[in-house]
Amino acid sequence: MIKLELGDEPHELVAARQENWPAAVLLFNQHGVDHKEFRELLETGYQVAKPVLFQRQYEKCAFCERSEDAEFRPVEHFRPKKGAQDKVDARWVTTSGHYWWLAWTWSNLYFSCQSCNMAGKKGNKFPIEPGTARAQTPTRPIVGPVTPEFFDCSMERRLLLDPRLDDPLDHLQWIPVDRQLPKAKWRWTLEGLDSLGDMTIEVLDLDRRVDFVNRRLKGLQNLWEEVDLFIADDQLVNARRCWDKLLAQYIDDPYQEFRNAGWWAVDTLCPKDMRDRYGLRHPQIPVVTLPKAT
Ligand SMILES: [Zn+2]
Repeated sequence: MIKLELGDEPHELVAARQENWPAAVLLFNQHGVDHKEFRELLETGYQVAKPVLFQRQYEKCAFCERSEDAEFRPVEHFRPKKGAQDKVDARWVTTSGHYWWLAWTWSNLYFSCQSCNMAGKKGNKFPIEPGTARAQTPTRPIVGPVTPEFFDCSMERRLLLDPRLDDPLDHLQWIPVDRQLPKAKWRWTLEGLDSLGDMTIEVLDLDRRVDFVNRRLKGLQNLWEEVDLFIADDQLVNARRCWDKLLAQYIDDPYQEFRNAGWWAVDTLCPKDMRDRYGLRHPQIPVVTLPKAT
């Protein structure tokens, strides 16, 4: 996971919200959140955001950074729309009522791979810190417009990284499993740096991407070996050229998979003091910014 800058909401989503919101409020007022028709309505319209999310996320899952084909992949609600699950005494327990009113809210939508989104992985899980309160739900009946504070969940102590708001590098770290081996043979694993990172790994089951990431990092390690050989041979111009190629390929290119892992691998294989010693440029923190075309 890396930080995503996704810009303003597309007008298609504004239109979908304007179209579906009045009916949602009507059904909510009449029947509450468990009514079949209301729940069906929550499945309507938000999918129009997918082409824009897909493009601005550079065709990758917001959570695991796997490249995906848009056709059969979902638009994921970061805060679930049909009841949130919290972890209580090692069990996932559903609290109804959250967060249906965010079904058509831009900041709550991501393009995701199927396996990050599916039930049993993220699904409806949205853990918060034990003992803290969830965001306030609108109460029945809703009369007039829902006030903006319901759409601001910033006070909630969530335990799931939000790629729009958090820098995942502060919470998730890829580390070598066995440092005794030569660097080219290192295998990598993912660890949380705090409770937010730990819970994000658990909820999204990010460990299932470890084999994919290791295959990706194998190429990075091969390039690093070339850099290392040039350094040993005192060919620093060639070392820097090869290093730049490595960074361009694994860190800088927004279409490439697993840039979070790439950054940690680069910083571990060749730490800052070593880069300073040989004049190798420092890797930029991988962030997705808006493609120039939008
Ligand atoms: Zn994913």
